Amino acid sequence: MMTRAEELLSSIFGFDAFRPGQAEIVAAVAAGRDTLAIMPTGGGKSLCFQLPALMGRGVTVVISPLIALMRDQVRSLREAGVEAGALTSGNTEEETEAVFAGLDEGRLKLLYMAPERLASGATLALLRRIRTSLIAVDEAHCVSQWGHDFRPDYLRIGALKRALNVPLAAFTATADEETRAEIVTRLFDGRAPETFLRGFDRPNIHLAFQVKDQPRRQILGFAAVRKGQSGIVYCGTRAKTETLARALIEAGHLACAYHGGMEAEARRDVESRFQREDGLIVVATVAFGMGIDKPDIRWVAHADLPKSIEAYYQEIGRAGRDGAAAETLALYGPDDIRFRRTQIDEGLAPADRKAADHARLNALLGLAEATGCRRQRLLSYFGEVAEPCGNCDLCDRPPELFDGTEAVRKALSAILRTGESFGAAHLIDILTGSATEKVRDRGHDGLPTFGVGRDLPKAEWQAVFRQMMGHDLIRPDPERHGAFRMTEAARPILRGEARVTLRRDTIRGAALKPVVKTLVAEEDAPLLSALKAKRRALAEAARVPAYVIFPDRTLIDMAERRPRTLDEMAQVSGVGAKKLESYGPAFLAVIAGEAARIHPARVKLAGRAAGALFDRLMATQAELARGEDGTGKHLSCTHATLRRIAEARPATIADLERIAGLGSQKLDRFGSAFLAVLAEG
Ligand code: ADP
Ligand code: ZN
Repeated sequence: MMTRAEELLSSIFGFDAFRPGQAEIVAAVAAGRDTLAIMPTGGGKSLCFQLPALMGRGVTVVISPLIALMRDQVRSLREAGVEAGALTSGNTEEETEAVFAGLDEGRLKLLYMAPERLASGATLALLRRIRTSLIAVDEAHCVSQWGHDFRPDYLRIGALKRALNVPLAAFTATADEETRAEIVTRLFDGRAPETFLRGFDRPNIHLAFQVKDQPRRQILGFAAVRKGQSGIVYCGTRAKTETLARALIEAGHLACAYHGGMEAEARRDVESRFQREDGLIVVATVAFGMGIDKPDIRWVAHADLPKSIEAYYQEIGRAGRDGAAAETLALYGPDDIRFRRTQIDEGLAPADRKAADHARLNALLGLAEATGCRRQRLLSYFGEVAEPCGNCDLCDRPPELFDGTEAVRKALSAILRTGESFGAAHLIDILTGSATEKVRDRGHDGLPTFGVGRDLPKAEWQAVFRQMMGHDLIRPDPERHGAFRMTEAARPILRGEARVTLRRDTIRGAALKPVVKTLVAEEDAPLLSALKAKRRALAEAARVPAYVIFPDRTLIDMAERRPRTLDEMAQVSGVGAKKLESYGPAFLAVIAGEAARIHPARVKLAGRAAGALFDRLMATQAELARGEDGTGKHLSCTHATLRRIAEARPATIADLERIAGLGSQKLDRFGSAFLAVLAEG
């Protein structure tokens, strides 16, 4: 039996399952309980108040901090056939009138409102009159006075709840204890709401770090194999955003710069272009983010090391909110580490705050210099235990490790014997026995450590020093021009009480030839481009962001399933009843147009025995798409998969699983039928 919530999930939003945690939150909110839900970005928070709003009577008032995002959410809901409206300072008169008409006629289910509105007495009267049944607060951490997104008007929400005496559902991706406590105090009068804390994992985001080695070339290379996909490049400085954006444009990308020093209007312009267009790259400082609600950002690259593990997690988290595959790359090098350390040391924060900032930076450096699965390491920082993920660079290609204890001890000894007064270059000269003028002038060629490190080339020594900084065994001293000091953490190693494992570097990884990353199998790529072109045309005509028509995830699913009828189209993830009606025929026509050209996977098999097999596998799959009795969940394999099966002719279920990579659901559904087809010839 489908619950009412599941029914709406499928008929309105076109999704066939809840994301983890959504079902419980929807149930609590729909039951009228006060709730606080902490979910990672991309966890699907909006649905958790939109569905209950549709299930109940009355109007759900949604408080959200950014007008542009409210307008886009309202557009998305309307496209899905939901009666929603926004009252913001950006409204035209007609828009406002339409909202009031919808309220008066009792049609409107969701009313979005900027927090500034709460200051006016008329707002309370309005919200009483329209029978507000629920207050939903998006980005609830904006009530926190200590956070960087503080919005004074959010402090009025508590009083509003009291005055209306209705339940409140608060949503945020910020999970730290202090913020949570503040939300409970300010929004719920201190009475603990039912609280949901979702895990932090974003399994569809691929994680990768690289040591800087011609960083501009690394970023250009990363972007080049993802041409046409929307992405963000984060840079440490404003100047760099401009030069890197230019370089990307010269390389033939759609790109623009964004930073806090730009005029407000120019910034808004970039935000709205990014939100609307498909395939734009924004090269930005960290100022870019809060105003971004785009579900199909396909990649995020860091041209410089972020300032903490939290910042890193938040910035990469903007990718892949639609659930389709997304990729990230963070570049770092010794200069980044030095820069971030100095930034903390020279800041004005009190000592305990500085220590905490160093710890957050250390956690990020530990992730950068990790010797095993990065996701495991990232999640363990947030207190979660995980298996190796299979979706990070170190799972893809385990690093070469070596026992670095001896090397580290030699380096520490060089540092101590020279009075903790020098940086890496000079120390490496001493270790490798290079009698430079500086070395001779200071008599360092007479030290016992002189030349003890001849076994490693200079580049390897640089990697050792960088990793020592990364493991916080040494720190650059800002008061002595960045000369290295040994930290307490290094003492056990120096005394021979602890050992340290290092990575053999890593530069080689950067030199690997990058492979073009497409979102679908090669055979389906032309169809995906055609579907995207159709989406662009429709979005421009309707003057909405492209993703409001359909996010990438939906087009990818469409390109793989190739529905031929409206019924089949309805099975595609993200195609609800209203969108099926508005856009189904247009996209079916695109698919039919491609089909007329015969599927490329089939063309490759033409005139071969495998061609006939492919056709029979297709037919068998179509018969079983909804199971033996025709009532099951829709399943299908891609054309590329069927082609592989037709060519390799597996004889057992195990072979089928290995060759086609089918999951257990599809194996159960199709496995024995496919084998029967293959056995016939
Ligand atoms: P958040 O606010 O938590 O970052 P959103 O509410 O913006 O996330 O949702 C991110 C994307 O995920 C949206 O494109 C939304 O349509 C999609 N989404 C939400 N729930 C589901 C689901 N159950 N199945 C598939 N997609 C979903
Ligand atoms: Zn991993």
